[in-house]
Amino acid sequence: MPDQDTQPINPDMHWLEQLPAGVILIVGERLRYANAEALRLIRAAALHEVLGRSVQDFIHPLDLARVLARIRRAERGEAGNPPTEFRVYACDGSLRVLAMTSTPLRLGDSWAALATFMDLSARAEMDARLRETDDNFQRMMNTMQDVFYRTDADGITRYVCPAVRNVLGYSAEEIVGLPAAMFYPDPVEREPLLAAIRRDGFVHDFPGRMRRKDGRIIDIAISTQILRDEQGNYAGVEGIWRDITERKRMERELARLATRDDLTGILNRRALLEHLDTALQDLRRGGPPLSVLLLDLDHFKRVNDTWGHGAGDAALCQFVALIQTQLREIDQLGRLGGEEFVLVLEQSDHESAQAVAERIRRVVQDTPFVIDAGHAVQLTASLGLTAARVADRRASDVLERADRALYRAKAEGRNRVSA
Ligand code: GH3
Ligand code: MG
Ligand code: MG
Repeated sequence: MPDQDTQPINPDMHWLEQLPAGVILIVGERLRYANAEALRLIRAAALHEVLGRSVQDFIHPLDLARVLARIRRAERGEAGNPPTEFRVYACDGSLRVLAMTSTPLRLGDSWAALATFMDLSARAEMDARLRETDDNFQRMMNTMQDVFYRTDADGITRYVCPAVRNVLGYSAEEIVGLPAAMFYPDPVEREPLLAAIRRDGFVHDFPGRMRRKDGRIIDIAISTQILRDEQGNYAGVEGIWRDITERKRMERELARLATRDDLTGILNRRALLEHLDTALQDLRRGGPPLSVLLLDLDHFKRVNDTWGHGAGDAALCQFVALIQTQLREIDQLGRLGGEEFVLVLEQSDHESAQAVAERIRRVVQDTPFVIDAGHAVQLTASLGLTAARVADRRASDVLERADRALYRAKAEGRNRVSA
């Protein structure tokens, strides 16, 4: 007696209604049957809504010719059609993507097409979203000014966006596959970055340098994070770096502007006072003697009054250039304001500072200042000299003493050094 489990069960027609796939019957390109799942998939409330309708009512125009050819083949009794995807308009007007396969079915003396299908809209939407995400990524990468990159665990560049051409002069293709460190002026310069990323997992605006294809070195700032594989092992880094050469240049220029006098290019008041404060600290720590000279041009107002302000400016520049010829590397000349200057003489005791002051006084007196084309004037300067003391707390303490000495030099007839 045969085992019960091996006895065939004859399917009942109503099973079709339970089938979790759409089943339709097409005769003469018209729908003659649709099971419950088919109605659900094409959003029909009841069979009569679709019965007798032409398949052309449903199929997307771009897919119509292809699908009709398949239906006709089935209706001619030709072998079954392999699965295909096409778009249909459901009864609610929504566009669905169906995967359908069909086969000829003998109905009396004619053929029908028996088709079964499933809804792939969800997958198609996911594909479209993926494509869109990828399109967005590519678009972003193509328009980015900064350089997005990714390396593997061995430091080999695996991706770099096209902007790299503007920044480094190399195309992305020239860089991918090569060690990222190769594009540093010295490969070891990449190591602090890697150490920081391995320690913290990321870096933000990390400073570095790179070498362009044309050999030029550029300043960069890198923001990067660590990549790990599924086992949590180090798998490389991914991030963005940008060319900050121009920003660096501007920072240096700003720093220079902040410390320099516009007219003469020597230290401005603030920078000079800072310098003097630092020199005083050294003195208090037992450093060598420090002397300070205050210089003021005599009757300078007359130059302006006679030759104009522009001529006065030119004379101030010549005065600075003239003094600079008398200085050592470590001496610092600054402009306090107007035609008043300070000279900080480090490692100078009172005697040697006195000699410097006298030399300056004489060279100013002996040098004609070319004011205008062909016109030269004689100028003199008065100088107040003081030696810094350990008791001086601030730069202003020293300058007040130098100012009193200068006042005496003026009072005693100008063109002289007073201490
Ligand atoms: P003295 O110092 O000998 O007493 O006389 P002085 O004429 O030099 O008088 P004082 O130092 O008080 O005046 C400084 C003058 O220097 C006033 C102004 O006309 C001129 N001066 C100040 N700053 C500038 C400047 O940046 N450019 C020019 N051209 N002139 C300046
Ligand atoms: Mg003056
Ligand atoms: Mg003055």
